[in-house]
Amino acid sequence: MPTEHKQNKPVRTRFAPSPTGAPHVGNIRTALFAWLFSRHNKGTFILRIEDTDQAREQEGSVDAILDALAWLGIDIDEGLVSHDKEKGDNGPYTQSKRLKIYNNHAKQLVDLGKAFYCFCSSERLTVLRELQQSRKEPPRYDGRCLRLDPEEVEKQLAANVPHVIRMKVPQTGETSFNDAVKGIITIPNQSIDYQVLLKSDGFPTYHLASVVDDHLMEITHIIRADEWLPSTPKHVLLYHYFGWELPVFAHLPIILGTDKSKLSKRHGAVSVAEYKKDYLPDALANYLAFLGWNPKTEQEIFSRDELIQQFGLEKINKNNPIFDVKKLNWLNSQYIQALAPEVLAQKLSNDLKDVDSVKAGKIVSLVQDRLEKLSDFKAMIDFLGEPTHTYDATMLVPKKLDRPQTAHMLEISSKITEGINEEHWEEETLRQTFFAYCEQNDIGKGDLLWPLRVAVTGLKNSPDVFGVMDILGKKKTIEHIAHADKLLS
Ligand code: GLU
Repeated sequence: MPTEHKQNKPVRTRFAPSPTGAPHVGNIRTALFAWLFSRHNKGTFILRIEDTDQAREQEGSVDAILDALAWLGIDIDEGLVSHDKEKGDNGPYTQSKRLKIYNNHAKQLVDLGKAFYCFCSSERLTVLRELQQSRKEPPRYDGRCLRLDPEEVEKQLAANVPHVIRMKVPQTGETSFNDAVKGIITIPNQSIDYQVLLKSDGFPTYHLASVVDDHLMEITHIIRADEWLPSTPKHVLLYHYFGWELPVFAHLPIILGTDKSKLSKRHGAVSVAEYKKDYLPDALANYLAFLGWNPKTEQEIFSRDELIQQFGLEKINKNNPIFDVKKLNWLNSQYIQALAPEVLAQKLSNDLKDVDSVKAGKIVSLVQDRLEKLSDFKAMIDFLGEPTHTYDATMLVPKKLDRPQTAHMLEISSKITEGINEEHWEEETLRQTFFAYCEQNDIGKGDLLWPLRVAVTGLKNSPDVFGVMDILGKKKTIEHIAHADKLLS
């Protein structure tokens, strides 16, 4: 069978989600790959909504899909571009608005002798399926209505007997196609079911709708997840029946969790909306791009432009990528560190209400290199609140000192603090004053600063003590030290 490809036409890719819930990282990875490929080739990226399975539809899904794409910077050239707006000449781009098109195409296939009416009741099909199961045969329509003579078909149609339209499938030979990721795939025709194309309620199945739309919307490259691979031979047959040129197919390896099972809720957050509070969109996009694609270099951090420049189907892996949150967090921390503190402060503005911009910048700079997830920020700056946190007092005690000695250190710190003029209250001055005191009085810096650091932050691991004190101000610093002293005694 021919496997010619539309490689010389302008590239047109599509993301074709079903609105059956909030998009998860797997869906968005598919969208990202199709988008990157179209951008790399200066092509067109289309969003089509596949809502033909109305029973599975969930309200709000389309908006969630649009939100996720917009957040990740995956812009749409054609199709549904916002909640109630379409762009492009190939619409409508929501399948439930295209029923007539599918009906006409299904009838066209019947006329071409490539599809047939099937009047079998669901009871008969259930019995058939159970019988096949008991014989350990794959479930498959047995072709009974293929043998109806034309008059009988006319009679049943005239009597409005409920029916579907199924595709015919040759019972000899094989169907093959060239997948850009997997290579040539060949399937014996006998293993292909007489797939329903048009359901009794007049709605198309996914197979008919997606083939018809991909053709009419002139999609040149169908980039989608591996789970659709078993459907592709049916689609290839349909392309041949209609006499249409085949697009390029590229099936992406399924993303697995660290335990090598299919990524799901139990591996943590999966819906893109849940990632919003923790990750920068560029970091997540960078991470997702590497789930199944590899530029085959050591470089791990790729700007959007670099991704676009380097992306290609030939670098998509056959192996299943593993979704590793630790890696994602690391990448996110790299992106966070690269931001200007003012920009990061803007992103964290919810946690910085009532803080002026100078102070916000200082707070952010203090913890920026320790942040992995944006949502960690709030807990990290807890110490800026009232000095009432109840931490374990033993945390205050350095290795070489006992409790009374630690209390003494806190007293010294309090005294030094009292002596610093508020006008000079600034990180560097604080550092110099404390360091000078240690030198002049032969006190180990660690011994003095450890209890102080814990006192002002309440944390075992914390940012630099003088940076913290700078932000706290003199009054609060003294309160924190007093509070620590109380905890200790
Ligand atoms: N509507 C299908 C989905 O929800 C699209 C499959 C395809 O891309 O052909 O994933």
